[in-house]
Amino acid sequence: MKNNNYRYRLADPELGSGELELLTQCIDEGMISSQGRFVEQFEAEFSAACQAKYGVAVANGTCALHLALETLGLGPGDEVIVPSLTFIATANAVRYTGATPVFADVDPQTLCLSVRTVEPLITRKTKAVIPVHLLGQPCDMPGICRLARERSLHVIEDAAEAHGATVHGRPVGSFGEINCFSFYANKIITTGEGGMCVTNDAALANRMRVLRGHGMDPHRKYWHPLVGYNYRLTNLQAALGVAQLPRMNQWIEKRRWIFSRYRELLAPLGDAVYFLPERSGTKSACWMSLVLLRDPAGRDALLEHLSSEGIESRPLFWPVHHLPPYRGAATAPLPATEDVSRRGILLPSHPKLTEADLEVICHAFGAGLAGRKILEGSCANS
Ligand SMILES: *Cc1c(COP(=O)(O)O)cnc(C)c1O
Repeated sequence: MKNNNYRYRLADPELGSGELELLTQCIDEGMISSQGRFVEQFEAEFSAACQAKYGVAVANGTCALHLALETLGLGPGDEVIVPSLTFIATANAVRYTGATPVFADVDPQTLCLSVRTVEPLITRKTKAVIPVHLLGQPCDMPGICRLARERSLHVIEDAAEAHGATVHGRPVGSFGEINCFSFYANKIITTGEGGMCVTNDAALANRMRVLRGHGMDPHRKYWHPLVGYNYRLTNLQAALGVAQLPRMNQWIEKRRWIFSRYRELLAPLGDAVYFLPERSGTKSACWMSLVLLRDPAGRDALLEHLSSEGIESRPLFWPVHHLPPYRGAATAPLPATEDVSRRGILLPSHPKLTEADLEVICHAFGAGLAGRKILEGSCANS
C-alpha cells in the first residue's frame, strides 16, 4: 500500500534557525532572485570545499550537467559514456545536447564506472565520460582521468549524490574538468532545488556564467552573442546552501555511522543480505544506505512490508537502458547493472535518525524478509 505518512522517511533535511535567519535577511534586503550576495558566497564556499577554484550555481543538478556538457561543446554526433545504473538525469542531460549517451556497466564492488567498463566502449565519436559517484561512493577517479587523458576525453563528474566523498583524501568535484552537484531536498546538503558546476578552469567558468544567464555579454547589457539559458539559482536558495554547508561534514559522518549500524544490525540475517565494501583509499559520503538481497525474488514483498510498518524504502534505480526513452540503447550486456538493480534496497539514511530508529527499521526488515524473525532479540537488544 502507498503510505505517504512514513514515520521513518528515506530523506528528511535538517532545516533550522540558521536557514531561517539567512532567508529573513534575503527578505529584509529585498534580494530574492538571483542577484544577491548569498549566490556568490555559496559558490565560493562550496567550490572551496571541493578544492575547485570556481563554482557556478544553477537551478538544479540536471541543469548543472547540461550546462557542463554544453560548455564543453558536446553535441550531435558525439558519444558520451555514462553508467546505466544512475538517476536518469545523467543520460537526459546528454540527450539535451543532441549527443548520444553510451551506457557502460559498473564495477560490482563500487557501483561506479571503472576503466575496465569504460575503455571497451570508446570509439572515434566518444568525446566525454560522466562518472557518477553512486550513492556517495566515489569512482576510481585517478584511473578514469588517466584513461581520459590518453584518449582525449572530457571528464564530467556527476557528484550529485557524493558531496564530501574523497579519493586518497581529495574531494570529488576536483578531478574532472567540470563537475556537477545537486542540492535537491534529499541530497547531502540542500537548497530545496539547486545545483552547482565546479571547475578549475577560469574560461570554462566564465562561459558557464554567460550560458546560465541567457547568454548575455557580461560587458554589454542585453547583448546576447549566443543562445543561453535561464539556469540561475536564487539568492533565497543560495542562503539555504550557505546555512547548510558548515554542517555538511558532520552530516556525512552521521550517514556513515548509519550505514555501519545497518551492517551490524542486519548481520544476524547472515548471507541473506550483503553490503558493498568501501574501496580502499576512498571515503564514501554514504548518501543512501544500500542493502543487497541474495535472493531478489522477495524484494517487492519486503518493500511492501516496510511501508506497512511506516518505513519508507525504495528499490535501487532501474537500469536507464531499460527505461522507455533509452530502451535498446545499450550495445553490450551490462551484467553488474542488471544484477544489482534487482537486488538493491535503499533504507532511510538521513542525519535525524537515531539508534532506536535504526533498530526499529532493522527489526521490520528482518521480519519482512520472508517472514523471518531472525532479528528478534538481536536487533532490539543491541
Ligand atoms: C539527483 C541527481 C541528479 C539530478 O539532480 P536534480 O537536482 O534533481 O536535477 C543527477 N544525477 C544524479 C546521480 C542524481 O542523484
